[in-house]
Amino acid sequence: MDNPNQKRRQELEKYFDVQGPFAFLRLAQMKRAWRQGNRRQLTWWENTYIPTLISGIWLTSKHFFRNLGFHILHLVGLCKDVRAAVTYQYPEQKRPLGLRLRTRHRLTKREDDSPRCVACMMCETVCPARCIEITAAEHPDPNIEKYPAEFILDLGKCVYCGFCVEVCPEDAIRMDTGILNTSEYSRESMIYNKKRLMEE
Ligand code: SF4
Ligand code: SF4
Repeated sequence: MDNPNQKRRQELEKYFDVQGPFAFLRLAQMKRAWRQGNRRQLTWWENTYIPTLISGIWLTSKHFFRNLGFHILHLVGLCKDVRAAVTYQYPEQKRPLGLRLRTRHRLTKREDDSPRCVACMMCETVCPARCIEITAAEHPDPNIEKYPAEFILDLGKCVYCGFCVEVCPEDAIRMDTGILNTSEYSRESMIYNKKRLMEE
């Protein structure tokens, strides 16, 4: 009868070509798979999960008491240069956002407070979630061809990909409000109209 190790090796060789260029990489892959497939059996003691449980409690407690100690020292003005747990007391304390983070949309305005949007429909066309719906209308100013009579954005469908911002030729839509908590009690409330998008 075949040695089980040999059988396993033959089986792995089906998936990892040990010939040809970069064979050494394939061999390394094969060895890794081989090791993973040959992990030793857990002992009776390890199977009770008690050692793992103790090690987990030890690790959590170590961090807890370290952080607690440093926070107490910070309160009395000591060890200020040693950082304790990085915990933000949300919602009172907000975490600083990255400059490139995409947050809730807004429509930018001209000097006369009208929307910069020229209803070119680029954002509506590119939106992969199909959550933008624009109703275009003729602008009274002959220099501006169109404007959005209504601009609907359904945040409940939006995937925050930022394509609408990227594609806009007028810098009329941005995702820089810093607003992340857009949760609502109904789907209808997630639908933003032009007025709401121009508020922030
Ligand atoms: S961020 Fe993406 S999914 Fe959301 S409105 Fe813009 S294009 Fe559509
Ligand atoms: S791409 Fe910009 S200008 Fe064109 S419809 Fe969208 S927001 Fe308006």
